[in-house]
Amino acid sequence: MSSPPTRVAILGATGSIGTQALAVVRELQRVGHPLEVVALAGGRNVEPLASATAEFGVRWVGVAGPEEADRLRNLVSRTLHIVHGPAGLAYLAALPEVDLVLNAVVGAVGLVPTLAALGAGKRVALANKESLVIGGELVRRACRAADQIIPVDSEHAALFQILQGSNAREVGRVWITASGGPFRDRPPAALAVVTPAEALAHPVWAMGRRISVDSATVANKAFEVIEAHHLFALPWDRIGVLVHPQARVHALVEFSDGTVLAQLAPPDMRIPIAAALAYPGRCPFPSEQLALSGLNLSFEELLPGRYPAFDVVLEAGKGGGTAPAVANAADEVLVEAFLRGAIPFTAIAEGITAVCAEHVPSPVGTVADVWAADNWARERARAFVAERGRGV
Ligand code: NDP
Ligand code: MG
Repeated sequence: MSSPPTRVAILGATGSIGTQALAVVRELQRVGHPLEVVALAGGRNVEPLASATAEFGVRWVGVAGPEEADRLRNLVSRTLHIVHGPAGLAYLAALPEVDLVLNAVVGAVGLVPTLAALGAGKRVALANKESLVIGGELVRRACRAADQIIPVDSEHAALFQILQGSNAREVGRVWITASGGPFRDRPPAALAVVTPAEALAHPVWAMGRRISVDSATVANKAFEVIEAHHLFALPWDRIGVLVHPQARVHALVEFSDGTVLAQLAPPDMRIPIAAALAYPGRCPFPSEQLALSGLNLSFEELLPGRYPAFDVVLEAGKGGGTAPAVANAADEVLVEAFLRGAIPFTAIAEGITAVCAEHVPSPVGTVADVWAADNWARERARAFVAERGRGV
């Protein structure tokens, strides 16, 4: 007897991860993997969302707000249920007819649907790293099983696979890799004049705008260390970062007997997405096979002091409580300001540092604590942008 299909909700379906996830679903369905898309959500980009709802025959769809809901309503069948806003995302994530939620929304808005999905007992394929960065303690508390969250971020998907079946007492240090981004070889003094187009041109990965800029400042890698800390309950001093420009090894784990296990794959996000959707199995997927012959791999430890955005975000993560939510919210505002030309590239790290320095962290007991810190940090970051914009 064939197994019933896994019923999936894809949040952030119009983004970089979301559209790749739809491509993966098409392929898995083509090879007969039992997978059904029952809900989709996007933000403001309603046209591609409308065509995806028709293609996959979904009955539920979410968008950013009421205006987008009105626009979508004119493009889709009247039988489609349309929800909006963070509450709409949470509603889709907890639908009784959903088994697995792929959360590929960008930013702090991803936290509430992650918590809603976990609370409703759904499995979560998690690309939205902000859920763990800003609400790590809340997410850990809501998680009922070690494999309720399947990481999609490539380094964490790698760690998750390496650590399957391992004994925590035998695990030593873990390493996530970093390509170093587009400015790896530029002297720090040359970074004040880099343009948004240069920052968005990542040498290895094609990604959404925010994570591309975060990769250029290397703040993304600090967010990922925080993500690993919460996902795998690892102390800070056992999570290292290796600069590995070839981006073929995504993570490594040292074991107590001297063994080091590494996970290698082509730099193609459809691979971790497919692994999360097919978990606990693997599904044949037509990605390019990694060419091992002639592969030259290099690793260099990322040391403090080289990337100021990495340092300040990681310090906020280690500080805990509301501090990482503040660093994340400031980064969201500053990256957006850089992309519209309001501040120079180097002001992103300066702004996060200024906002974090003003913040007095407090413990996070509820989501409301996260939003209070998030709102405060956005306001402070906007004030920083306004001052920098006036040349102060
Ligand atoms: P994109 O910017 O490409 O896509 C973001 C998605 O979120 C879009 O569908 C967007 O909708 C939606 N969205 C944004 N704001 C809202 C909102 N207020 N309400 C509802 N939906 C919203 O981002 P990525 O796909 O690059 O990244 C998604 C997540 O995955 C991030 O957390 C990122 O860090 C993580 N990640 C991404 C990787 C990548 O290769 N891209 C790799 C590893 C992790 P719309 O466009 O319709 O407005
Ligand atoms: Mg990553």
